[in-house]
Amino acid sequence: MAVRWVDQGLVLDRIAFRESSLVLRMLTRTHGKQTFMARGIRKNNRDGRRSVLAGFHTVEIEGSARSEAAMLVLTRAEIIRARHHLPLQGATLAAAQVLQETLNRLTADADPCPGVFDLSASCLDLLDAGAPPLIVLPFCLGRIIHLMGYGWRLDGCAACGRLEDPAFFSVKRQQIVCRPCGTPYAQRLLPVTEGVFLAMHRLNWPPDLLGIPLPDAYLYYRITINCLARMAGGPLLTDGPFRAMMAKSQFSNTQEQTDDRQGTFGNSGVSPMQRGIGAGGKEGGTGLPC
Ligand SMILES: [Zn+2]
Repeated sequence: MAVRWVDQGLVLDRIAFRESSLVLRMLTRTHGKQTFMARGIRKNNRDGRRSVLAGFHTVEIEGSARSEAAMLVLTRAEIIRARHHLPLQGATLAAAQVLQETLNRLTADADPCPGVFDLSASCLDLLDAGAPPLIVLPFCLGRIIHLMGYGWRLDGCAACGRLEDPAFFSVKRQQIVCRPCGTPYAQRLLPVTEGVFLAMHRLNWPPDLLGIPLPDAYLYYRITINCLARMAGGPLLTDGPFRAMMAKSQFSNTQEQTDDRQGTFGNSGVSPMQRGIGAGGKEGGTGLPC
């Protein structure tokens, strides 16, 4: 039976196909992540479809297929929420690309989650309006992690269970660690300040743009991006460019540019997926309790 539907979408990925077409991956609001063929789009922009699909706009799309098993063809695309400013600023563009990769790698095909779609669109709106990417991005990623069902535990230390003095976060356990338990393993854990703890606890959206200092926002970003890398089975490719942009623009902490992969995946820099998740349950050979 032929398929035809209209939905809202955000472009996640574009792959050139043959001479003039594109294969598009899009997050749609009520049909989840979908792959479309956009025929003739690179050759001919008379109907404006190419520019409609080039940016970070929310687009109304019409997809159709000859049968449920056939590939969807994009038959119409129209901007319903334009975001023209976003790509003009390097750090803002890099933040939007982290969000794009997160959605592309971590949402399942044809599994709708309107909450994730609406949050992502709202995040892109804030970025387009010039809100600081280092604050907007971690708050958005933190909520996405929770909407996808991978929430973290903040109700007690991963090692001793007490809630006193949470000073670290274990990506492996997705849980906080208290100062006495975490200090011997500080290099393998991510630091948590009071401001970060509060942000992780509240998961408020939209974020209070003046409510968190930039160094705390950066720590929060490190926690979210490392959680996502673990969920995705390997580092996000857009993380490095975003950090480089942050270092260049508003927040500089070059010492922390390269530590995370080691902290999360052990000194070899190999992801849990490459090594095989659960193989022996050991991370790097030391008896890390948390
Ligand atoms: Zn403890």
